[in-house]
Amino acid sequence: MTASLLGIYVWAIGLIAWFIIRYPYARKARKTATVKAVGWSRERILLAIATIGLVVVPVIWLASGWPAALNYQLNYASVVAGALVYVLSLWLFRRSHKDLGRQWSASLEIRDSHQIVRGGVYRLIRHPMYSSFWLWGLAQAFLLPNAMAALSGLVAIAILFFTRIDHEERMLTEAFGDDYRTYMRETKRIIPGIY
Ligand code: SAH
Repeated sequence: MTASLLGIYVWAIGLIAWFIIRYPYARKARKTATVKAVGWSRERILLAIATIGLVVVPVIWLASGWPAALNYQLNYASVVAGALVYVLSLWLFRRSHKDLGRQWSASLEIRDSHQIVRGGVYRLIRHPMYSSFWLWGLAQAFLLPNAMAALSGLVAIAILFFTRIDHEERMLTEAFGDDYRTYMRETKRIIPGIY
């Protein structure tokens, strides 16, 4: 099997694993009442952009071959790097879902009896799930042998992250005051000790 074909398979398996990990949490989340939702229409647009970059653009390229001019060949080192980054991303995605528990929501929300989570991976960084998204985008860049399909994930994550992050931290500061401010002083956002 060529490295390029292997890269596509690994990307597809990771995508399926991502949905399997998320499914039980998404189901539970539907049963948890929401006290406050922030920026509803902005959130819909951001989630649509993430889906386009991580799923729709690669699937269009896979199904139609367009844009063939941006195709290239992968080497096996790139596939191995992509697979390792993907495994780390999926592990962090699962861990942060577990640690966040019933406070999780796809868009920005304060849940009924919402509590600040500071344990597990949240001890190291404030936004481990977004770290896992950046790693997912990076894995996609290593694994898909087409410049547009490879980079669309990172572009989408960048838009989602930088548009949402200040709103999310403001919402949590308004809800939890000094508790969240202290947590912000003690931790970085997505890379332990750095950012
Ligand atoms: N930004 C976090 C969580 C993403 S899920 C991460 O990347 O890991 C989004 C929801 O998580 C938001 O609606 C917010 O209410 C909730 N949230 C974010 N950080 C939280 C924390 N430390 N404790 C409790 N809830 C949190």
